[in-house]
Amino acid sequence: MNAESKISSEHLQRSAYLYIRQSSLHQVLENTESTERQYALRRRAVTLGWPEDKIVVIDHDQGQSGASAVDREGFQRLVADVGLGKAGVVMGLEVSRLARNCADWHRLLEICALSHTLILDEDGLYDPSYYNDRLLLGLKGTMSEAELHVLKARLVGGVHNKARRGELKMPIPVGLVYDEEDRVQLDPDQQVQQTMRTFFATFVRVGTAWSVVQIFRQRGWKFPRRSPAGSGDIRWEELTHNLATKTLHNPRYAGVFCFGRKRSWRSADGREHWRTLPRKDWRFVKKDAHPGYITWDDFVANEARLADNHQAHGAGESKAGPPREGPALLQGLVICGKCGKTMTVRYHIRAGRLTPDYICQKTAVEETKQVCQWISGGSVDEAVGQYLVKAVTPLAMEAALKVQEEIQTRLAEAARLRRQQVQRVEYEAEKARVRYMRVDPNNRLVADSLEAQWNEKLRALNETREECERQERADSTQLSDEQKKRIRALASEFPKLWRDPKTQDRDRKRMARLLLEDVTLRREQDCLVQLRFKGGATHEMRLPLAKTSAQMRKTNPEIVSRVDALLEEHSETDVAGILNREGWRSGEGLLFNVRAVKFVERAYKLESHCTRLQKEGWLCVEELAALLKCRPARIKYWRARGLIPGVLTESKPGYLYKRPSDSILAHIRKRQLQYSHKPISF
Ligand SMILES: [Zn+2]
Repeated sequence: MNAESKISSEHLQRSAYLYIRQSSLHQVLENTESTERQYALRRRAVTLGWPEDKIVVIDHDQGQSGASAVDREGFQRLVADVGLGKAGVVMGLEVSRLARNCADWHRLLEICALSHTLILDEDGLYDPSYYNDRLLLGLKGTMSEAELHVLKARLVGGVHNKARRGELKMPIPVGLVYDEEDRVQLDPDQQVQQTMRTFFATFVRVGTAWSVVQIFRQRGWKFPRRSPAGSGDIRWEELTHNLATKTLHNPRYAGVFCFGRKRSWRSADGREHWRTLPRKDWRFVKKDAHPGYITWDDFVANEARLADNHQAHGAGESKAGPPREGPALLQGLVICGKCGKTMTVRYHIRAGRLTPDYICQKTAVEETKQVCQWISGGSVDEAVGQYLVKAVTPLAMEAALKVQEEIQTRLAEAARLRRQQVQRVEYEAEKARVRYMRVDPNNRLVADSLEAQWNEKLRALNETREECERQERADSTQLSDEQKKRIRALASEFPKLWRDPKTQDRDRKRMARLLLEDVTLRREQDCLVQLRFKGGATHEMRLPLAKTSAQMRKTNPEIVSRVDALLEEHSETDVAGILNREGWRSGEGLLFNVRAVKFVERAYKLESHCTRLQKEGWLCVEELAALLKCRPARIKYWRARGLIPGVLTESKPGYLYKRPSDSILAHIRKRQLQYSHKPISF
């Protein structure tokens, strides 16, 4: 079948689409020849019968790679128009290059077949609705994609081979440089080296990137950065947190060559994404590949520390929040010894005082399981407080000495860095002076600007010198005898401050936090308390478990028998008074009162004083009234007036009356009691 026979009048009525693409800007500028060839296709379309004005040229995608259709606006438009049946023929230099991605290519073929659109390239004219043409076009597309793949594989393979040998020349961070033989060396600039060393040493000392940044800023130290566009010049800038963490995470500083720390992938919208891989997934790692500022072990330790800090800031299990009101000394510091989660505080009132309990209930809340453990906090707080007071004196002295040492080393470092900075500025001023001296004085234009530069450098030198002197003065006053005395005083003041009732709970908590890293509690036969101090020291103690409320109320058996004996003769109120006078105390260590005595009665099934009296024949008001054949109110009236004696008991009938003897009874009846106001004696 020849080319012309594939073209119908229907095809000619539609437009001819010429798609022009150069995949890189370089090709666009240099490879004008292929552009020529692409425009030659246009003439071909005209000879095949398409009128000049029906030829649509799509060249939006010049300079875009064919690997994906996503960002190629022109290709998208082409597909849309073909789908709408506007195109009679699609032309391209090598049509398979329309799309170098099989999915895009096959989609285009499918749409062309459906809309009876022809495809034309330099090799010939194809009708995708014919099987043979379609097969050929499909193969062309596959080959084209394969070509790209092979090209890429060759490039990437070369890179990987070099990387495996550790010879791949990659951009290196500031502080490291390539020498003439392309080997990585430490930057010969002493100021850069010194700053990098100080940076890593400071991190080891203070432990957080944020603190390192703070120290650098407070001291006015600048951090080197490489100027952009590979000029190799060093700029001195303020250290930022981002820069600090990047530097700490960069394995090159540990003398390690590594490749493949990040992985890229494309999402459905064709955009490229990057992810940093965990250390074990890095593609190539070659330790001791070149000199570094820290060792590999240091690097691993630094990363672990950064991860810890990250967790502590709420990325994982949240650690201690700020100290709050409430007396729980260890709030936010307590860790469950069973499951390792943070324990929370719950308060309750015991004996009129707010008492904390430490509870591990995270899983209980989240997974509705049982509370992991529940430890009464009062005794723990007490014991920890006592231990702190006991331990803090030598501890604080140790810390104070450490601080002194650190300040000493830091001052030396600072002074060295500042002097280097002055030297650098001096050198630059000298350079500017020489440049000015060398210029022909008649060349006013140049001479003036060089003089201005020299002046500028001199001003900078002055400022740097002044700053250096100012800092040195400030440093020298930092360790006066007065301050040393105060540090020591603080250590000895601590117990006093701790015990002072005016010291608030919140401040006591702050003090505890300054000293303690965390406290682990574990309930066994007793309560295991493990203290971890900030410096890394640990201490372990075992406290008896707080008594349960039943255990607390358990009464000494001696008291029970004493109560039993006393109740024979005395009312509950009197019994309480007698017990207190005799020095007995309840299980909670409290004084006895009526309620406590009655509690003992109930708990040990003792008869109340009232029952005992009734058993002896004492009568309640109704019984007496029945006996005397009068109304109970009358009896109460007589008792209130002191006419008949009654005994008030602590139990139900209230007043009890001794049974009158028969003779007295007869006497009362005879005298018709209700009219008599004289006292009656039973
Ligand atoms: Zn737990």
